[in-house]
Amino acid sequence: LLDLRDIRKTYPSESGPLAVLDGVSVTLQAGETLALTGESGSGKSTLLHLSGGLDRPDSGEVVLEGQDIGQLDDAARARVRRMRIGLIFQQFNLVPSLSVAANIALQARLAGKHDPAFAADLAARLGLGDLLARYPEQLSGGQQQRVAIARALASRPALILADEPTGNLDEETGDSVLTLLLDLVAETGAGLLMVTHSPRLAERLGRRVHLSRGRLGG
Ligand code: ATP
Ligand code: MG
Repeated sequence: LLDLRDIRKTYPSESGPLAVLDGVSVTLQAGETLALTGESGSGKSTLLHLSGGLDRPDSGEVVLEGQDIGQLDDAARARVRRMRIGLIFQQFNLVPSLSVAANIALQARLAGKHDPAFAADLAARLGLGDLLARYPEQLSGGQQQRVAIARALASRPALILADEPTGNLDEETGDSVLTLLLDLVAETGAGLLMVTHSPRLAERLGRRVHLSRGRLGG
């Protein structure tokens, strides 16, 4: 499904170029779940952004379903992202002027895959059933996070990229959100790459890779 090959990414910094990713390779199969761990600033979000085509590596390949999306222009990458990828960001990026229901449906609509029954089912499973008419500013942080998760899943993505999706949730809610993600992976055969600081959640995901000094270890 996703094949990252020898990815390098450098950012400019006050003390000269900072090699955040320095030859990272990892493969994720359809239906597989993978935990990504690493210290703050180790490049986890950078790796997810590259995997989702939000940015391009300096060198290396980001092969999604056989296509090197690092070679595509911005518009083509945005299309791949809309159609094939569900991204759950550390920041939720909800649209303030849209209701919860409209936020959840947003990507699926743009992808031409909006399925009202599936969206309603996701909202219910995420405990958002009574909040659909509200606006993001009327929600708690944890509720906003669950809206962002529902939005990412509503388009039935082949690849789910989740950046600490349970970071704002209490332990019990975080566990149930991960259960939902794992259920969806089992139902749809999607691949899930998830950043988490929780050893307990990483354990539930099964395979785990650790990012340190620009490189991935097992
Ligand atoms: P956290 O656990 O705190 O979310 P992270 O592992 O996700 O951390 P990244 O956000 O990928 O870390 O950042 C990796 C490094 O790259 C950091 O040192 C950060 O300051 C730097 N960095 C990230 N984005 C940029 C950017 N757009 N420009 C310059 N430096 C950046
Ligand atoms: Mg991060």
